[in-house]
Amino acid sequence: ATEQSGYAYFAGAIVPFSEAKISIATHAFNYGTACFEGIRAYWNAEQEELFVLKLREHYERLHRSAHILKMSPPLSVDEMVDVTVELLKANAFRTDVYIRPILYKADPLISVKLSGIRDDFCVFCVPLGDYFDTEKGLHMGVSPWRRVDDNAIPARAKINGSYINAALASDDARAAGFDEAIMLTPEGHVAEGSSANLFLVRGGRLITSPVSDSILEGITRGMVLELARELGFATEIRPIDRTELYVAEEMFLCGTGVQIAPVTKVDHRPVGSGRPGPMTRALQERFFAAVRGRDARYAHWLTPVYSR
Ligand code: PMP
Repeated sequence: ATEQSGYAYFAGAIVPFSEAKISIATHAFNYGTACFEGIRAYWNAEQEELFVLKLREHYERLHRSAHILKMSPPLSVDEMVDVTVELLKANAFRTDVYIRPILYKADPLISVKLSGIRDDFCVFCVPLGDYFDTEKGLHMGVSPWRRVDDNAIPARAKINGSYINAALASDDARAAGFDEAIMLTPEGHVAEGSSANLFLVRGGRLITSPVSDSILEGITRGMVLELARELGFATEIRPIDRTELYVAEEMFLCGTGVQIAPVTKVDHRPVGSGRPGPMTRALQERFFAAVRGRDARYAHWLTPVYSR
């Protein structure tokens, strides 16, 4: 369960977490009419500093999601960045943190629509370490549930209501004995995990699905592509067939929650050697150094909290 101590940002102010409450008639609670973000902050013990990863980029994506939902965010991107840093300071974290901002249709209203409803913004944060195993490798199952299509609920926006699609796939995958689900598009191309983007390696090339195959415009995906190019890996963004999952040399999931997590089995078939592969390992090594503030080349990815 989410820890209910410390402070949250709610209705325009930093308040004790226990005071951040909404009515059961809230539009977003009734219809899922909200968009959100998941952001990580990494504690660097040597520097006694908390670094928020790609903070501005997350709020830029939140504003794009909001635009699709015809929302009027009460705060600008810069103001959201500022209140998040203030909130982290108020909580005085000295651990890794997961940050959850939500922009939601806040009026109490029975009416299925988007326009003419007041939007509000809140943020809470919880201490969080590795959410998925990043060492031993995951066993993924291709889900019988299809990823929501751009013309149903746009996957490029991080919309609360669309996580029912992710929860159906993820929960059934776990009940069937897998660690996580891989979701296909309605046409049968590989889309992504339930809450992470997917990469695979074939012929030594790193391949990931295009955003037009119903994936979230993942921020970690962007960082992985940048790191891959710097490591001299050939990259390809193109539609991926389901059976390419069964003949890949390497595979991993990436996202704010999962970070970079190797996949070593899909539908009971080992991926490559059945162990995390060398390209996956090289990317993980650079990624984890960068996000924890141990590689000066990526300092621009990070917002320091306490020395800001
Ligand atoms: N796809 C989905 C459906 C997700 O929920 C997430 C997590 N936000 C991702 C991909 C990964 O995106 P990011 O790297 O921006 O966290």
